[in-house]
Amino acid sequence: MRNFLILTLAAFFVLSCEKPHELTEFEYTSKVDTNDHPINPQVKKTYKIVEDGVQADNLFDAARMNDFKRIAKDHYEVLINPENSPINMSPWFAFRMSAEEEKAVKVTLNYGEGKHRYWPKLSSDRKNWVFMDSTYFEVGEDSLTFTMNIDLSTEALYISAQEIIDSNDMKAWTESLNSEYLTNSVIGKSRLGRDLLHMDITKGEKADKDFFVVLSRQHPPEVTGNLAMMAFIVEILSGSDLAEAFLDEYRVLVYPMMNPDGVDLGHWRHNEGGIDLNRDWAYYRQPEVRQVCEDIITKVNETGEEVMLGMDFHSTWEDIYYIYDDTVKSSIQGFSREWIENIFARLPEDQGIIDPFPVNSPVSKNWFFSEFNAEGITYEIGDATPRELILTKGEVGAQEMMKLLLGKYKQ
Ligand SMILES: [Zn+2]
Repeated sequence: MRNFLILTLAAFFVLSCEKPHELTEFEYTSKVDTNDHPINPQVKKTYKIVEDGVQADNLFDAARMNDFKRIAKDHYEVLINPENSPINMSPWFAFRMSAEEEKAVKVTLNYGEGKHRYWPKLSSDRKNWVFMDSTYFEVGEDSLTFTMNIDLSTEALYISAQEIIDSNDMKAWTESLNSEYLTNSVIGKSRLGRDLLHMDITKGEKADKDFFVVLSRQHPPEVTGNLAMMAFIVEILSGSDLAEAFLDEYRVLVYPMMNPDGVDLGHWRHNEGGIDLNRDWAYYRQPEVRQVCEDIITKVNETGEEVMLGMDFHSTWEDIYYIYDDTVKSSIQGFSREWIENIFARLPEDQGIIDPFPVNSPVSKNWFFSEFNAEGITYEIGDATPRELILTKGEVGAQEMMKLLLGKYKQ
């Protein structure tokens, strides 16, 4: 019986032509220390300015306001600090204000050592957002401060660096998708016990399907990348002939909220461990990265099929496609460049820059090659890219990806 089992297992691995993958540490030339680094927690409170009849608070997920003080009549200073430093300059802010009667006030954001980056968005319901009118704000000298004119009323007004999509919003989105192919689950917990969300898109049998892996929100403020990711997934679940054919051949694993603690705590960049998660894809010291990698490897080993492509959605100052350079011989080498050229041919308004790199640093893009010999892409959307264009880019990007993986790059 034991021999039979061994033979069966051996036959399985011979038939699948692959040995099982293991979580492997990688020594890249560019190394980053991802051991925990303390963070400064934000005090959650309501600030009441009695003499002006104004109040402000940070008592909601994704808020960031480290202090609020009156500097003149109807003029307030809001301190915006990062969770720790050194840190990437992504000075996220989000707070809520109201007044006892309608009035116009001034709010000056003070970033300490940081510099202003995000065009403010306003909302009364935290769902529908408008970009603040450009005549309503002024950037201070060297971008060290930023002053806004804000019309207050008795109704709470959210003022935020980008539209807020917190961990609960993401969970609600995954549950709103109506597809028989989609199974939502929780594959683990963040350091503070928030759910690590997972979407498994499998049409029919799991056997004989190679994998496409999608990541999002390693970096909390990167909402525009998140919007593109959602449009991308909606297109894969659209039921179009192309999407149906794609899902006959591929299984899609999505981790849409990699850093739920950082997002809900209003962090600029890091997780609760004080670490940039997208530098931990070689040592897996942070629980969020480790559990997602283990989940991907477990699912891949269950069927013995291969990851062909991994895509990690981010945001930065402009639209950028980070891909591999010609030294990287992935199993579908050439895919990324051809995919982007096909997007440009259909969407001339996509101003994305193509930025090729060797595999030499502990970011997720490189993990897909090092662990699976797959192609990896960091898909960056600009902070201010028009929202309609983001949705179109996600949709067209998904279509062109599916065409190529069903055509020239089908294995
Ligand atoms: Zn990022």
